[in-house]
Amino acid sequence: MSSGRSFDADYIFKVVVVGEGAVGKTSLILRYTQGSFNTNYIRTIGAQFSKFDLTAKAGEKVRLFLWDIAGQDTFSFMRPTFFSGSKACIAVFDVTNDTTFSSLQTWIDDIHKYCGNDMPVVLFGNKSDLVNNKYSNQRSNAFLKTNNVLGFYLTSAKNWDQCHSGV
Ligand code: GDP
Ligand code: MG
Repeated sequence: MSSGRSFDADYIFKVVVVGEGAVGKTSLILRYTQGSFNTNYIRTIGAQFSKFDLTAKAGEKVRLFLWDIAGQDTFSFMRPTFFSGSKACIAVFDVTNDTTFSSLQTWIDDIHKYCGNDMPVVLFGNKSDLVNNKYSNQRSNAFLKTNNVLGFYLTSAKNWDQCHSGV
């Protein structure tokens, strides 16, 4: 991992991070981007983006721009702009709050609408520290199947060391 202008990226990808307010999107992004920290806020579309540089196993230098929508429904009319040009999506819910899981369907439908059905999506069940890292996969597995989602990861922005790295 490296930061700054010296990073000569082979690939640059925009990744959108979606999910209801307070599920932990910003906290997770801050965790990921520690060390290559650079966050900007775009007031007009209520989104912020953070740069995250990484070197893949095969040696390619990859720069991710992680986009996090901040304004929730107020900015729903800006969603096409938010999704524009993105290459992957992280859908986040809070494992202690069922409605945050149910509301992901709307996000996934929007993603498919604006980015196509082949858009790679992964699902994060965040705040796993609050359930001692125990969560039944049954519902998330069904969700993965119906929505063409690539994988499910239990995460905790709080207890980072114990959680899977989905990126
Ligand atoms: P966002 O609205 O989705 O960006 O959510 P935030 O990142 O602002 O987090 C909302 C609240 O949840 C904050 O008080 C965070 O400290 C808390 N939070 C975020 N991630 C976790 C987590 O993994 N575990 C716990 N216990 N709290 C979390
Ligand atoms: Mg946020």
